[in-house]
Amino acid sequence: MKRITLLGATGSIGLRTLDLVASFPEEFQVAGLAARGSNVDLLADLCRKYSPRAVALLDAGAVDRRARRLTAPRPELLAGPEGLAALARDVDADVVVSALVGGAGLLPTMAAIQAGRTLALANKETLVMAGSLMTAAARRRGVKLLPVDSEHSAVFQCLAGHNRGDVHRILLTASGGPFRETPKTRLASVTVEDALRHPTWKMGAKITIDSATLMNKGLEIIEAHWLFDVASDRVQVVVHPQSIVHSMVEYVDGSVIAQLGVADMGVPILYALTYPERRPTPAPRLDLTRVGPLTFYEPDADKFPCLRLARAALEQGGAAPVVLNAANEIAVAAFLHRRIGFTDIADLIERALVGSRAGELRSIEECVAIDAETRRDVERLVDARDGGRPA
Ligand code: NDP
Repeated sequence: MKRITLLGATGSIGLRTLDLVASFPEEFQVAGLAARGSNVDLLADLCRKYSPRAVALLDAGAVDRRARRLTAPRPELLAGPEGLAALARDVDADVVVSALVGGAGLLPTMAAIQAGRTLALANKETLVMAGSLMTAAARRRGVKLLPVDSEHSAVFQCLAGHNRGDVHRILLTASGGPFRETPKTRLASVTVEDALRHPTWKMGAKITIDSATLMNKGLEIIEAHWLFDVASDRVQVVVHPQSIVHSMVEYVDGSVIAQLGVADMGVPILYALTYPERRPTPAPRLDLTRVGPLTFYEPDADKFPCLRLARAALEQGGAAPVVLNAANEIAVAAFLHRRIGFTDIADLIERALVGSRAGELRSIEECVAIDAETRRDVERLVDARDGGRPA
């Protein structure tokens, strides 16, 4: 029986993970659940269904509201950023699924690694911010970082049984998002609803906007760099609108190995939970005779500047990826609150990156400080653009 702590239990990845726990009751058991605390009723339902030992909520007010809705046996309740980190560190678990969204996941994810817990990583932003520190800590503690992101799970599977030295490059596929066919001149006027209409995947709002700007693919280039130890110029992005080939690895002899499947996050999540084994799932099967033509082409770097910004941040290193991520989070939230336009997202990130420091990040504290400072700076830029209009 594997005990699972789930950071981000109420999100798209979190709920899909819990479906799998319910489908394999003899294999998995929930040890701890964490979320921000936006939906206390949903959390109370999850506690009744999965009986976690402990629950951590970022929002301390939500902890009080939730405590009133709980029936016996009550889980231990933890609150605030320290509560989330304590859950990841102290509650006995075989796997911690890191599926909070954004930088909020950094401290609990680091706490899980420092406690020596196997990590199933969905929260790519943490690796973008602190890849060198996280991978170094994982090496020191002998912790496995198992990718949940479908592209990185695909690469991980394509690498199995091969020599890392034989890898020529990684080919990350991208659906192209909802604006794949939209002319560049129309992007400034697209709405939040247009941007949230993702063609193939049903996901949380932040990653859906990241997919529309292609920042998601930019973050994934950085994620691939840290997970698989490849340089930026060895990661090629390929637009593949059908989302059937989840990614590929090209070897030095020209052989390309791909992983294929239907677009269902249940598959990479379950693989991370059962690795190195596999389990049969009720997920729909891939029928290649019915999917039609599979197409691949280069992304339009001029139309989607976030790809270039992410690569530049990775190549610059130091604080740049932290700035990239924080600026993106603030800009995406401002777009979702209709305070800025779609093309302002890349503009704000580019402005934030000007002058960001090079050099190694020395500590998580330094990373957290740069993150907070960038968020304040970009908030000010957003205020200046929308005249300080409240969200
Ligand atoms: P969702 O927005 O659906 O869920 C986010 C979760 O994080 C919720 O449990 C939410 O809690 C919690 N949360 C949000 N903000 C905070 C905060 N400030 N502090 C603490 N908790 C917070 O996101 P997804 O599930 O879509 O994505 C989660 C992560 O997985 C992201 O990093 C994303 O990039 C990655 N990912 C997602 C994929 C997908 O298919 N969805 C695919 C690949 C990667 P509450 O409900 O209480 O607000």
